[in-house]
Amino acid sequence: MNDIKNILPDFEPPLNKNRSYIPVCEPDLEGNELKYITDCVKSTWISSLGLYVNKFEKSFSSFCNVKFGIACTSGTSALHLALAAIGLRPGEEVILPTFTMIATANAVTYAGATPVFIDANPNTWNIDVDKIEEKINNKTRAIIVVHTYGYPADMDKVIAIAKKHRLFVIEDAAEAHGAEYKGKKVGSLGDIACFSFYGNKIITTGEGGMLLTNNEKIARIVRILCDHGFSKKRHFWHQYIGFNYRMTNLQAAIGLAQVERVDKFIKNRIEHAQLYKFFLEKIKGIILPPDTRDRKNVFWMYSILISDDFKINRNQLRIQLASEGIETRTFFIPMHLQPVYYKKYYLGKFPVSEDLCRKGVCLPSGAMLKKNHIKLIASLIKNIST
Ligand SMILES: *Cc1c(COP(=O)(O)O)cnc(C)c1O
Repeated sequence: MNDIKNILPDFEPPLNKNRSYIPVCEPDLEGNELKYITDCVKSTWISSLGLYVNKFEKSFSSFCNVKFGIACTSGTSALHLALAAIGLRPGEEVILPTFTMIATANAVTYAGATPVFIDANPNTWNIDVDKIEEKINNKTRAIIVVHTYGYPADMDKVIAIAKKHRLFVIEDAAEAHGAEYKGKKVGSLGDIACFSFYGNKIITTGEGGMLLTNNEKIARIVRILCDHGFSKKRHFWHQYIGFNYRMTNLQAAIGLAQVERVDKFIKNRIEHAQLYKFFLEKIKGIILPPDTRDRKNVFWMYSILISDDFKINRNQLRIQLASEGIETRTFFIPMHLQPVYYKKYYLGKFPVSEDLCRKGVCLPSGAMLKKNHIKLIASLIKNIST
């Protein structure tokens, strides 16, 4: 095991909040959010029954060009519902990238199954599709792809592999609302897609998630599983062990207001990315995020690599930016290095993911970020580099 101390220090750099503090992510709630929430409270429909849940499901699923949307409590519960809906069982395996946020792997663990980790591709930072087939065996049931930081994974290859081996494809699109692969929205590409609406995601409901699918049978089961396994025909009658993963009307009210402005949020993030690129691309030792013509990256987090050619290392850069009031995030620590997964599931080597973890930093990217913030951040990085 690569010693984690060589990759990441076990502290966060102290943030200077006396300076012009720039948070890494801040939501924009300046549309109809307050109006719709007020409507919920005044009408007393604040639990999971109520008109906004249905409206939010319809508006977000049609934004993604998918037939069915089931709102739930989080991106994590959407992933768990997806795996429960395909009937994943203990002893079975699910393939997923090691370079992801832990919820992707935990959902597999909740189902009692085994996550099988794959390294990242150095160019896309997403699952290395050429390493998937060697991990497939008769216990494999599904492949979860993650559209990391808003850049779509290599879906054509993943879908071809899944077809050949009769596996389900689940998109973890928690970071990629509105991203596109060859002109199609992510979330519409696999069998099931899972979105998160956590506070720092491209659209937010505070906490929340949604499962999307074009498969009517899966949609029907997910709706039941999400609601305690209640039969739709007879109340208090249960054919499945379900969950209470229902989204509240309050959250959906915020979600609906967010979807109304999602195009603006995405446009903003892409413009911010273009500005970051303009200022940073000529700096030696800075590697910009993947951005190719066949895909629309929505730049959930503007993420760069600080290579060994840069004047100081990634950790030192974070400390310096923090002292100027600029909050940053490191990249994900790969799953195979996590204390909870290391012993059980560590098989093979994952050098690309470890390299990303060592060099990666997410710069401020929220909806409230201003152009002069980006100018300031970029000029600080440039000054450090010379
Ligand atoms: C945020 C995130 C999740 C989890 O979403 P929650 O709503 O916080 O449960 C899952 N997968 C990825 C890739 C994420 O970034």
